Amino acid sequence: MERILIIRYSALGDVVLATSLLAPLRDRFPRAQIEWVTSAACAPLVEGLPGISAVHRLGRGPEDGALALARRLRGRFDVAVDLQGKLKSALIARAAAPRRVTFARRTAAEALRALLGHDRPLVRAHATALYAEALRPLGVAAPGRTIVEPSGEARRRAGALLGGLPRPLVALAPGATWATKRWDPRRLAEVGDALHGDGCALVLCAGPGDAAASATLRAALRAPLAADLTPLDVGGLAAALGEVSLLVTNDTGPAHLAGAVGTPALVVFGPTSPIRWGPAPPGRAISLGLDCQPCSNHGGERCPLGHHRCLADLPAATVLAAARELLR
Ligand code: SF4
Repeated sequence: MERILIIRYSALGDVVLATSLLAPLRDRFPRAQIEWVTSAACAPLVEGLPGISAVHRLGRGPEDGALALARRLRGRFDVAVDLQGKLKSALIARAAAPRRVTFARRTAAEALRALLGHDRPLVRAHATALYAEALRPLGVAAPGRTIVEPSGEARRRAGALLGGLPRPLVALAPGATWATKRWDPRRLAEVGDALHGDGCALVLCAGPGDAAASATLRAALRAPLAADLTPLDVGGLAAALGEVSLLVTNDTGPAHLAGAVGTPALVVFGPTSPIRWGPAPPGRAISLGLDCQPCSNHGGERCPLGHHRCLADLPAATVLAAARELLR
């Protein structure tokens, strides 16, 4: 096996989780040339990783869309590893290599049931193990650890925000794409205030889509925010998370990013599964373990039962106690 193409272009957390396959692939095929197709936003996560020869950016335009990429990569690989499992990724994989392995979250029957509104959460293994399972036909048995190596420029941007701040730093991430995955930012603020009282400096970890949750957190916090990581791209964010002692977060991409740079993430779980999406050690998942949990693969806008008790009933004191343990 000389040339391998990995395809995973979204989202941040999934791309980070997919990096767990690099070490086992390199062990299995020591001389292989490994390249990666990803989005421009996620490219800083895989650029510069050991063993990656090239990163191809997938966009939406005539020059960088799926068709253009399929043309450019046609026949260049021995095997394509499609971890995205979408039409676009299939198009690229089919053009790029005669042999393909694909991560498929659902069987055809399950996909049909999902269309009818019965999308049963996949909880039998961690996402990294599920990716590795897809590579079994290539002789890959288990995932390695996730890895992200921020560039020197990313480290400089992070240093400009965090350099000179008192330690330890604790990052608070109030956002999540789906409403049911968001713990009340006012409770996160309670955790932050208590940790500030313990001597920690607080840092806001948020993306451009987290404005409302960030505003609620800011309004509720009595302690000052020492820095705001929102302006950083994913490379800068990875470098910044490498500087903090703990990230307290919902089940979102930064939890996996923190794990990949060796920072423990304390992750609050509601509708999604800690078995599948739990943080890398020594991070920790917190879940009430209600009978209805998990109810979803990725979260949704509304609780199917209408009460959202999985997060509404989770007190700040529980999260604070776990945060203090991790900081010790
Ligand atoms: S309370 Fe139960 S049903 Fe509602 S979002 Fe949470 S896990 Fe799902």
